[in-house]
Amino acid sequence: MAVVEAAATLSNGVRMPWLGFGVFQIRDGAPVVAAVRTAIAAGYRSIDTAAAYGNEAGVGQAIRECGLDRAELFVTTKVWNSRHGYASTLEAFEESRKRLALEQIDLYLIHWPVAGRYQDTWRALETLYQQGLVRAIGVSNFHPHHLDELLAGCRVVPMVNQLEFHPLLAQRAARDYCQTHGIQLEAWSPLMQGHLGVPVLAEIGRRHGKTAAQVVLRWDLQHGVVTIPKSADAGRIAENADIFDFELSAAEMAAIDGLDAGRRFGSDPDNFHF
Ligand code: NDP
Repeated sequence: MAVVEAAATLSNGVRMPWLGFGVFQIRDGAPVVAAVRTAIAAGYRSIDTAAAYGNEAGVGQAIRECGLDRAELFVTTKVWNSRHGYASTLEAFEESRKRLALEQIDLYLIHWPVAGRYQDTWRALETLYQQGLVRAIGVSNFHPHHLDELLAGCRVVPMVNQLEFHPLLAQRAARDYCQTHGIQLEAWSPLMQGHLGVPVLAEIGRRHGKTAAQVVLRWDLQHGVVTIPKSADAGRIAENADIFDFELSAAEMAAIDGLDAGRRFGSDPDNFHF
């Protein structure tokens, strides 16, 4: 299956590419414009940014200049922790939309579950969804207990939960929870922020003529997890997209599953201070 065609179907029927391009820590302006342009040329059709990344303007510029129809691209952005609350989130969304210079956002996420605040924020996302300003809404960094609380009072069930997810943090409980509730899981830091020197991954890769990074991203796809690797390097951007022409065996999937160690490279959603 080619990169462009491979898409998950969210609970509301919206199609979201299995592979997206993460732009965290790529500077706004020329660096992010170049990276997004390179990714689109390599076949990516989904871009994951956030207000907090400070590069929405450059992402929007690359999208306008890439020559594709807007409908061919899937754009995600997120409301930051300091903007929680109903009115504040509606404002933050409008600011993101202006910086991206897009009519409609494909997916809008609550970036982190700030305790006591995210219920009102979710009501704002429901409003944006009902107004047609976003095609899908979701959350990020929500443990099952955060989702329990959200689901108890929501009108629209989140379509996506974006979590830190990789072989060392396989998120079994969150994966089961999301599957039960029709929420698409999406992996952030899928490449363990570049910590790929795990012998099992290299060994499996050798069998398929693939790198450790490609093995990990393929493992995401075969688990039904949307994945958004970041790279600022043209060679690695292309490498990370070249994952649709091989298949991991059940034994290889199990060997990678066996690496799970509950190891985080980012913050725990139950213990963050930003
Ligand atoms: P990743 O796991 O995608 O790893 C990126 C790192 O791996 C970079 O240092 C990159 O270096 C390196 N790398 C990329 N490709 C390869 C390769 N093929 N071989 C070896 N090294 C490689 O980390 P991120 O934290 O960036 O996560 C991805 C995306 O997830 C983010 O960009 C962002 O969009 C999202 N995210 C969301 C969060 C949330 O709270 N919702 C939190 C964190 C991330 P180089 O650039 O030099 O190639």
